[in-house]
Amino acid sequence: MGIYIYNREQIKRIEDACLIAASVLDEIEGIIDAGVSTHEIDVLARNAIKKHGAVPAFLGYKGFPAAVCASINEVVVHGIPRRNAKLKNGDIIGIDIGVRYKEYYGDTARSYAIGAVGEKVEKLLLATRESLYKGIEMAVVGNRISDVSHAVEAHVVRFGFSPVEEFVGHGIGRNLHEEPSVPNFGAAGRGPRIREGMVFAIEPMINAGVREVDVLGDGWTVVTRDGEFSAHFEHTVAVVDGKAQILTRGKNFN
Ligand code: MG
Repeated sequence: MGIYIYNREQIKRIEDACLIAASVLDEIEGIIDAGVSTHEIDVLARNAIKKHGAVPAFLGYKGFPAAVCASINEVVVHGIPRRNAKLKNGDIIGIDIGVRYKEYYGDTARSYAIGAVGEKVEKLLLATRESLYKGIEMAVVGNRISDVSHAVEAHVVRFGFSPVEEFVGHGIGRNLHEEPSVPNFGAAGRGPRIREGMVFAIEPMINAGVREVDVLGDGWTVVTRDGEFSAHFEHTVAVVDGKAQILTRGKNFN
């Protein structure tokens, strides 16, 4: 199908979906604490998405049973919200949310520490978040997609952390997942050239230990092979006036 190029009007509409996704995450942030279950987070997200007149894009996507992915500790991505999965001090959680609004999609994720976490885990959260912005800086007209990928990887390996290879960022707009793939690793200067009007989600999934992951028997939950923690941050960006504009801007994440 190739890579879609979106005009200003379409990007505005994708941004509308993205801003809903971001504001729902802002709302969720208010309840994330020890004792809260990932099911409660999912219910809040579903209601908030509907309140905005939007549709939870993950719910039913290839059979996924919830509106958010809630990934605790060694879960990298695609954690399924559950009533018996309650947050406790020392945990980290990644919340990934996708919405559809008037035929366009937005996708964003953030990771949080619950109470006090160790120094290494603090560093993992910070480095993963920083790596997202390193990638965004490289999403300029004339660069190639793997310039984004390389910038993400180069930032995190300095701390001894590892990007996940099996799961990657993606084009987004008319569909939740479109071309191109946006990996979080690899040599610079490869892949499609970045052009004005491209829209994609950049989403570093970074492991504290080895980069290998496994998918659990539920067919969704992705975990680190060595059991070390993993962090995830994601923005949807559009290439406008030659550089990446963040569409999923939130209160404390923009
Ligand atoms: Mg995504």
